[in-house]
Amino acid sequence: MNTETEFVDFKMGAVETYLEQMDKSLDCDATNLYKEKFLKYICLATENNIFYVKSECRAQMKKSVTYNVEESIDCDGSIFESQCECSAGMGPNAHCKHVCCVLIALYYCSSNGEIVTEETCTQRLQTFHKSKRFKGSPIKACDLLISAARASNVNFDPRQRATHNTSNYQDYFRNICLNHKYDSTLPIVQLYPPAQIYGAVTDHDYFEFHTEDKWLSENCISTITDEEISKIESFTSGQAKNSRWKEERCK
Ligand SMILES: [Zn+2]
Repeated sequence: MNTETEFVDFKMGAVETYLEQMDKSLDCDATNLYKEKFLKYICLATENNIFYVKSECRAQMKKSVTYNVEESIDCDGSIFESQCECSAGMGPNAHCKHVCCVLIALYYCSSNGEIVTEETCTQRLQTFHKSKRFKGSPIKACDLLISAARASNVNFDPRQRATHNTSNYQDYFRNICLNHKYDSTLPIVQLYPPAQIYGAVTDHDYFEFHTEDKWLSENCISTITDEEISKIESFTSGQAKNSRWKEERCK
């Protein structure tokens, strides 16, 4: 039985009328059983305009013990018969707290469509793998308990002693930076002046073509084919509105 189950308009009056026959009235025991989720489930079947209810309710003192509760309710919402497995629940007119608990559940389900039953192990999503929010404040460096004598001995350099001030370290570091994949975007690169272009060209004189000539021909400045001309024409349509046009124009 859940929110979408079709059921009669079940009134609290029907429960009271049923219990009156046995000189009983609803007590807080049954209400507490319901509110504290002692009810496991409710199954509902209907035949010949009679609703048959089957349910399981845990015993109040021994949570490992469950009692089967069965009830029949006719189509105008009055209770026909009921029985329970507990010692006080002999049918056909049982009125033990388990029967009352199921009746209360039926009443709530009929009036507001909600039913409170025992939680299954997967009902609440697991949370143990989710990190909890850290609410504390990290200790400030000035509050660290380091005595003046010890503070002077603290070594803040992460490098090992043997690697301090090695020869040619400056050049080694500069090479690492300049040869890095993202060389032009690394902030450290701003500390190094640009290369002497004429010097670089004369240094690399072992190439078949001069480095400058190679650059000019690769950028279609010194030589250009008809195919490349028509390609550039189509890429740069729109002229000033086209960013590629400016790039080509700068050449
Ligand atoms: Zn019972």
